[in-house]
Amino acid sequence: MQTNRRIWLKQISLASAAVGFSSLKTFSFPAKPAVDDPSYEPIHLSTNENPYGPSASARAAMTEAQNINRSNRYNWSNTTNLIAAIAKKNNVTYDNILLGAGSTLIIDLVVQLAAQKKGTFILADPTFNNWTKVAEQLEMKKIAVPLTSEKRHNLPAMLNAMQPDTRMIYVCNPNNPTGTVCNRDELITFINAATKKTIVLVDEAYIEYSDQQSVSELVLENKNLIVVKTFSKIYGLAGGRIGYAVAHTDTIHQLNQYQAMPDAGVSIVSAAGALATIKDENFVKECFALNEKARKYTIEQLERIDIPCVPSHTNFIYFSLINYKKDFFAQLQNNLIQGTRVWEENGMWSRITVGTIEEMQKFITAIK
Ligand code: PLP
Repeated sequence: MQTNRRIWLKQISLASAAVGFSSLKTFSFPAKPAVDDPSYEPIHLSTNENPYGPSASARAAMTEAQNINRSNRYNWSNTTNLIAAIAKKNNVTYDNILLGAGSTLIIDLVVQLAAQKKGTFILADPTFNNWTKVAEQLEMKKIAVPLTSEKRHNLPAMLNAMQPDTRMIYVCNPNNPTGTVCNRDELITFINAATKKTIVLVDEAYIEYSDQQSVSELVLENKNLIVVKTFSKIYGLAGGRIGYAVAHTDTIHQLNQYQAMPDAGVSIVSAAGALATIKDENFVKECFALNEKARKYTIEQLERIDIPCVPSHTNFIYFSLINYKKDFFAQLQNNLIQGTRVWEENGMWSRITVGTIEEMQKFITAIK
């Protein structure tokens, strides 16, 4: 176990034993002014976007895509070029890629495919779970498997939780909200075992912020593995709504049966932005470095004020408020900072997005 991990586990267990914990509010969005006020601009530290995006190259490409007046045409050539670039980046073929208006839409498609036959689906707790309501609407039953004490996916337990009717397992790597990663060998062993019987969906929304290697190449030999990725995070195009699946060609074909027009949810403007950014390695490198610096600063500062943090491999930090004496969300609201909600143990844990260093300084000042 790494030393910093050991320290936070110890701090947290001592603190949990010592005090009771009062429930917190579950969300912290500063109230919007009643009248539309154009100067109202909170600091967004809630939904893990890239504060430096879109890249200059994406801005130029998107402006051009609009300016040359081609938005009156469907213009499939933009998506064609983008899919080719994505395939190259992931070491797979053109036919292994499916575009969607955000990876959320791809996840919805996977859920529909999995729910062809009713049954159970498995995910970690906590993890990114906005999509589970879709599965439940389709009469699928949830099996939630707690994370390990280090806040990582418990892959052996997830494998054990499989039932004869399990239709899908979701693994978020790195995990949202905890920022932890799976061990690659363990993940591959898990994928190989689980996909013998069910679909495994690996969500790599934040992988570019980590040192993890994608598992996308494995789809070439594995029809039950689907990897989902997004341009919303390090690529800085959250509002552009663009993400994609990497899967076996047969699986892409199956996913396509759940939408009238494959790849058509993506506008030419977003496709132009994504194409420019995926080629812009400098932008991605720069965002990685800036994020790392601001994250390190924030973790150091939080731990100085007795807020233990889980080591993060992403652009957000998961931390415990067990020792925090003030009203954390009131402090944020008073300083026009959008945080997010609470998780686990009566709401003892929360998450903060890593913004710019200036934003993180304001965040630290606000909660001190
Ligand atoms: N997957 C994870 C783990 C996320 O955290 C998010 C958004 O926060 C998404 C998927 C959805 O991203 P998109 O904007 O591509 O729909």
